[in-house]
Amino acid sequence: MSIQWFPGHMNAARKKAAEAMEKTDMIVEVLDARVPQASRNPMIEELRTFRQRPCLKILNKADLADPAATQKWLDFYNKQKGVHAVALSCKKPSDVAKVTGLCMKIAPHRGTALKPLRIMIMGIPNVGKSTLMNALLKKRVAKVGDEPAVTKSQQRLYLGNNIVLTDTPGMMWPKIEHPSDGLMLAASHAIGSNALIEEEVATFLADILLMHYPQLLTARYGFKTDGIDGVSVIEGVATKRAFRIKGGDLDLEKAAHTFLQDYRTGAIGRVSLETPESRVALLASYQPPPSLSDVRTDDEEDEEEQEEGRPLRKR
Ligand code: GDP
Repeated sequence: MSIQWFPGHMNAARKKAAEAMEKTDMIVEVLDARVPQASRNPMIEELRTFRQRPCLKILNKADLADPAATQKWLDFYNKQKGVHAVALSCKKPSDVAKVTGLCMKIAPHRGTALKPLRIMIMGIPNVGKSTLMNALLKKRVAKVGDEPAVTKSQQRLYLGNNIVLTDTPGMMWPKIEHPSDGLMLAASHAIGSNALIEEEVATFLADILLMHYPQLLTARYGFKTDGIDGVSVIEGVATKRAFRIKGGDLDLEKAAHTFLQDYRTGAIGRVSLETPESRVALLASYQPPPSLSDVRTDDEEDEEEQEEGRPLRKR
């Protein structure tokens, strides 16, 4: 399955963001710490490097992510030019209190009454931008919701300390290049539930957790994970929770939904779905779809192998 999700207002958001970037001193990019690269929007990087704006990358929801993986991501991002990365939970006031200080360090030439520091908060839907803004402003200015794309219009807010804040609507890129990114985003709820098939997403998630966090699955659901696959995990959840449809069969839809919710709320434990290493492996294995001229027939391959003196393969 390939997940594509691009509500119409996001095209307009790109244009607005490009314009706003001109009048901005630095970007605060909010990422989901459990899926930092999958939850980044390449468009943000492109716009900000074009305008040479420094960036504070906030790996948000760090309370839900695997601390070891988060540390690797911090090291990874902090090596990048013009980037300072920090892991936070925007739900914790003490974490949010660090943000303005970090911004002032990143753009020390601004932040006076005459030259206020202009910050733009960016990120794809549901990573926690509104939560961050509300916490920064210590009052409820943006609607927070666990449904993607709740923040739809741009706002400009005065933060004190000579800092001006602009909120940009959540943006998604029109095409998700790697299907696994779409699945990770769907699992983490950055893509609306109407645009996905929960059972497939849950199975994908279960496969990752089986590989990296089997002990958490056992602790949460009480079944052994040796030799099982993602589908069996969802079946196991249905069995353990006695989710059945009429006629007695397992209710896999309900089990998939419960499993995803358990991941989203952190009930399974602190997990990350990707690390810098897994990202490198993903990119190395990625094959762009071949163009017609690249597709070779079996006969052409045989000819080539004969020319190279290799024995023909069995087909
Ligand atoms: P936005 O679409 O980027 O503005 O995201 P929201 O601020 O609306 O947050 C989306 C969901 O993530 C909400 O349910 C928030 O309560 C939740 N959330 C935001 N920040 C955190 C965090 O640091 N930790 C956890 N556990 N949940 C968070």
